[in-house]
Amino acid sequence: MTDNEQVHASMTIQTDIPILEGRKAQIHQKGSQPFNIECEKQSVAGSVSQRACVFCGSRVVLYPIADALHVIHGPIGCAAYTWDIRGAWSSGPQLHRMSFSTDLQEKDVIYGGEKKLYQGLIELVEHYRPKAAFIYSTCIVGLIGDDVEAICRRVTAETGVETIPVHSEGFKGSKKDGYSAACNALGRLVGTGDTSGIRPLSINILGDFNIAGETWVIKDYYERMGVEVVATITGDGRVDDIRRCHGAALNVVQCSGSMSQLATKMKEQYGIPIIRVSYFGIEDMSQALYDVAEYLNDKTVMRKTQDLVRDEVSNLVPQLRRYKKDLKGKRAAVYTGGAFKALSMVRSLRTLGMQTVIAGSQTGNKKDYAQLQEICDDGTVILDDTNPLELAKFLEEKKADLLIGGVKERPIAYKLGLGFCDHNHERKIGLAGFEGMLNFAKEVHGTVTSPVWKLAARRGRLEGATS
Ligand code: SF4
Repeated sequence: MTDNEQVHASMTIQTDIPILEGRKAQIHQKGSQPFNIECEKQSVAGSVSQRACVFCGSRVVLYPIADALHVIHGPIGCAAYTWDIRGAWSSGPQLHRMSFSTDLQEKDVIYGGEKKLYQGLIELVEHYRPKAAFIYSTCIVGLIGDDVEAICRRVTAETGVETIPVHSEGFKGSKKDGYSAACNALGRLVGTGDTSGIRPLSINILGDFNIAGETWVIKDYYERMGVEVVATITGDGRVDDIRRCHGAALNVVQCSGSMSQLATKMKEQYGIPIIRVSYFGIEDMSQALYDVAEYLNDKTVMRKTQDLVRDEVSNLVPQLRRYKKDLKGKRAAVYTGGAFKALSMVRSLRTLGMQTVIAGSQTGNKKDYAQLQEICDDGTVILDDTNPLELAKFLEEKKADLLIGGVKERPIAYKLGLGFCDHNHERKIGLAGFEGMLNFAKEVHGTVTSPVWKLAARRGRLEGATS
């Protein structure tokens, strides 16, 4: 074998990777068998799940509350792992962007970390005087058994600043259990503020995290419709707004995986109805605004909504045409946190003339997956809680030109020589709303048509072999 041949042999892409026995029921190829995907289960041992831990789940939900103190009780690695994890912008305070940690060491593990937590909290609360403080428990705290609840009660009593424990020990489930821990923590604030002055035509925005300013775009749409936004939970969030959000007429939930529990609790406790929306893509964005207008049942709001959608869509569609011209017929793979968002991705890609050949999520439920396979074309692979090898296998088999995912999926795409679009919480480009759809088209176009892929050894070789 020549040197050249050896290099090529070492770069051979394996598409015959076997699927782990325990994962087979979590993969479905549309049209090959009746739809009955397994989901919402613990990751299979031996499968390097793309999911994050419980602590990370709670941190990404609560982190955008900008005037709160966020303290991670654990080793420094947990804090570093989630430092500034969302591109969640604030229109005011920036306290959320600091990453405070008790930096637990071996001695603390042996003797307990309660003293360190108490002293750290007193110091931080006195220095920053935050509106509230969230204290996240990590794996090690669960193991050594620090009484975080008691420390929080003590700090609240001594400082007057509400100090809220977030029971998010990393090992006790998956990212989705972190969403529950975050909702429980938020539940301690809801209902504690004054609701006087809130108008009847009012909503809360739930499950939008102001990534690259997206919450501002969405809030602006609702305000142009004549609707008051009481609280944004949690994008550009403020503690006092969350305290009084139970005075709103409607909860509008986007990321339902993370916020359903809080919305359901508010429905039970305060009778606030819930509608579920998505702000990604032309169809879903328009539908979200119309659904709110319909619910509020006000003629002026409906007229303003129609005007807004007409103006925005007629401005956007001509701009999308030039991207669509190049993207027509390209093939995309989508791997998102929740499966509901994947639905919007499939529709948005269709708007750009692209076909989705793989669609999956970390934490989707059966209902979401059923809807997802419904809108996908025959042959599309639907994946629940995949792993990097499996994902790479299907990307190759389906000859995808693009992978849409988060930070953990990026290297998979680049190693395979594919375009990549970050649609997760780490990105710095707003993809929600009508203007977000234009950004999305630019992003997808830029990466899919980049000449760099011709130079990628694997991709170039594969194309050479098949052409
Ligand atoms: S799994 Fe445990 S140790 Fe790792 S980041 Fe999560 S809480 Fe920290």
